[in-house]
Amino acid sequence: MSLVLVVEDESAIAELISLNLRHAGYEVTIAADAEQAQAAVDGVLPSLVILDWMLPGLSGMALSKRWRSEARTRELPIIMLTARADEGDKIAGLDAGADDYLTKPFSTHELMARIRAVLRRKAPEALDSAVEVGGLRLDPATRRVTRDDREVKIGATEFRLLHFFMTHPERVHSRAQLLDRVWGDHVFIEERTVDVHVKRLREALQPVQSAHMIETVRGAGYRLTQQVQAFSA
Ligand code: CA
Repeated sequence: MSLVLVVEDESAIAELISLNLRHAGYEVTIAADAEQAQAAVDGVLPSLVILDWMLPGLSGMALSKRWRSEARTRELPIIMLTARADEGDKIAGLDAGADDYLTKPFSTHELMARIRAVLRRKAPEALDSAVEVGGLRLDPATRRVTRDDREVKIGATEFRLLHFFMTHPERVHSRAQLLDRVWGDHVFIEERTVDVHVKRLREALQPVQSAHMIETVRGAGYRLTQQVQAFSA
């Protein structure tokens, strides 16, 4: 289930939004200011944030900029809400990293449609289409991983981990990011659990000569690469 964080100091609006979200099947957390919002995000990374521009204390725009500058929240989907209708503010909101922008008063139908659209855009790994990187092919629909028609025997967690790596190739992911994105936001697992599953993933890929694709980046995390390293066999 997707968790949506609603950051809005006007409680009537926050309640209205969360009522609609819950009705549509989302879990909802409400924060009344930037400090509460930060605490919520530090605890459980939501799937999406609805962020009011005008908040007491730190503004929604400043909070959005801060989240965009930090690795854990860089890709957090944000829909900015504001009472201001003018074009300059809209551009400033998008510059601050919002994925979409809605001007008050808005219809809840429109808000729900925007939420679905932003989640779709932001979650390519949730799609069922097959991915191929460096000759390795993963098909979520059939849950098969193959290379040159040879099937890879792979566990459920390793499959999800490989799916995430393949939909975000060449980028370095920290253990904390991998826990958030692969294991989900509601679990508290030690970061070395990631190392265990990466090791198993490499073992699973060994028979098709693809273990080297999962690189350890010292002090940073892991990445999937199709660049052949000079030192690799
Ligand atoms: Ca407000």
